[in-house]
Amino acid sequence: MLTHIFSPATCAQCRLCCNFCQRSAWETPFLEPELAALIVQNGVPLMTRPNGSKSFALHFTSNDPEENCNCPLLDTASGCTLPREKRPFECRVWPIRLMHDEQHQLCIAYYSHCPALQTPDTRQKLIHYATNELLPILLDYAERFPKSIRPLDHHYSIIRKIKNAAAPSVV
Ligand code: SF4
Ligand code: SF4
Repeated sequence: MLTHIFSPATCAQCRLCCNFCQRSAWETPFLEPELAALIVQNGVPLMTRPNGSKSFALHFTSNDPEENCNCPLLDTASGCTLPREKRPFECRVWPIRLMHDEQHQLCIAYYSHCPALQTPDTRQKLIHYATNELLPILLDYAERFPKSIRPLDHHYSIIRKIKNAAAPSVV
């Protein structure tokens, strides 16, 4: 979460991005191999996606597609139990996501429904950050971890398409 752009207090009241239902289970964060190994050592079960990438497993208790399930690393009172610098990259840059469009072109996008982004001023700050300071970091990550790149979904808005960057189909 980009808490230098929006208030941590807003996130503390929300927790939307640490909570999933069966419909949104594809959005659980990609875990870099070293982090996945560490999380398993701590007894948190992982799942393997069809493309071989790892995320934590969600434990739904019914077939209700709307049933909510928290990330197993979330403490509902205090927030994420991982130190900020140890969190999955996708969590650290959320609500920005590396995605690909139908032509498999790499896109930098943001989650449109994030409650912290509902003012034009905050969205502008986010877009500026994503297309300046954060851009080389995003591109480097996309190159190192192409399996983290998600198919674009209608809940996301494109900030920028990156020319000449092939993005593989995943999930
Ligand atoms: S969805 Fe947005 S407001 Fe909610 S916790 Fe995540 S970053 Fe914060
Ligand atoms: S790893 Fe932490 S920040 Fe990421 S979804 Fe889980 S609880 Fe939220």
